[in-house]
Amino acid sequence: MRTTSGWQSSDGTTALQRVTIERRELRPDDIAVRVDYCGVCHSDLHRIHGMLGEEGLVPGHEFTGEVAAVGSGVTRFAVGDRVAVGTIVDSCGECAMCRAGQENYCVHGAVTTYGGKAGLKGGYSREYVLREKFAFPLPAGLDPATAAPLLCAGITVWEPMVAAGVGPGTRLAVAGLGGLGHLAVKLGAALGAEVTVLSRSADKRDDALALGASGLLVSTDEAQLAQAHGRFDVVIDTISADHDLSPLLRLLGLDGTLCSLGSPFLSGPRLLELVYGRKRLTSSGTGGILHTEELLRFCAEHGVAADVEILPSSRVQEALDRLDEGDVRYRFVLDLSDLDALAA
Ligand code: NAP
Ligand code: ZN
Repeated sequence: MRTTSGWQSSDGTTALQRVTIERRELRPDDIAVRVDYCGVCHSDLHRIHGMLGEEGLVPGHEFTGEVAAVGSGVTRFAVGDRVAVGTIVDSCGECAMCRAGQENYCVHGAVTTYGGKAGLKGGYSREYVLREKFAFPLPAGLDPATAAPLLCAGITVWEPMVAAGVGPGTRLAVAGLGGLGHLAVKLGAALGAEVTVLSRSADKRDDALALGASGLLVSTDEAQLAQAHGRFDVVIDTISADHDLSPLLRLLGLDGTLCSLGSPFLSGPRLLELVYGRKRLTSSGTGGILHTEELLRFCAEHGVAADVEILPSSRVQEALDRLDEGDVRYRFVLDLSDLDALAA
């Protein structure tokens, strides 16, 4: 076993504690990654809050770093290569979904970067071991700290936007301006769409415009919503709390698509509004290898990356609690290098 250290919730609270983590010895097609930067996703918070009798949860599924060691059969990476890792670290490789490059939908269940059926410890740690197939070379030109959130927040909004045909001429609304939302705005604008942000207040209007949106609608203002009735082709919903989808569906025009990505939605949709207008309600769950590669190329070409606040990983609780309070512009990224000193 290889050992490293990381940040674990043992009791369902955000008071994560530093623990020693065991990683498997490298298999022939494994690489070990020195984790330098790991984004803090709202899913990490949901998972911590929802811990049910688990022994301990080390979150983290959007990280970048350097290859620290390679297995005997590794062909795509060498020690020292810059690398990025997202939400999926293994899958059957044989089912229709895997063959289509959608390992995230593997019919036998993809292995998630933390928790899940394999119970792996995630990227809030200094070293991670995975099959080389599931790691991505970090393209030159992308900064490792601001690119880390592309590996979950970015790909999660990218796949459904591409699937919905977002491009020049698309009237796109992004609901919730957080980690996912701000990247949806940047990526949507870079794809050529006309982007409008839906936010609970007008506080983020200047940010929305700076990110590439052409306007912001206040989602708590009935009059503003009524005026925007039927205006959009696609709504990307990244709201992290339980909410009624009806107001969002009413914003769609004929054949419009609402893609609700927030975790609460996934546990309780209300579907009747879909009927009126032959609307499509879709969802999506992170992304597969092909699309992640496509995203990274696109971001390198268009200079797209996250707006981040970097904190030493020892301040992980502060990051989680401020995320819970909505106090983040727009992604916390943990710098794991302090674990070296803490371990010494
Ligand atoms: P985040 O940074 O906290 O952003 C969420 C945004 O939702 C907030 O910035 C806020 O936007 C809005 N919001 C929060 N509470 C709200 C409330 N009570 N009512 C209305 N709006 C509210 O979170 P994130 O990391 O972007 O994640 C967003 C959601 O996507 C989470 O539920 C996460 O678990 C989920 N997720 C899903 C996938 C997937 O594969 N489907 C992948 C990653 C994350 P405003 O301040 O602008 O109103
Ligand atoms: Zn995530």
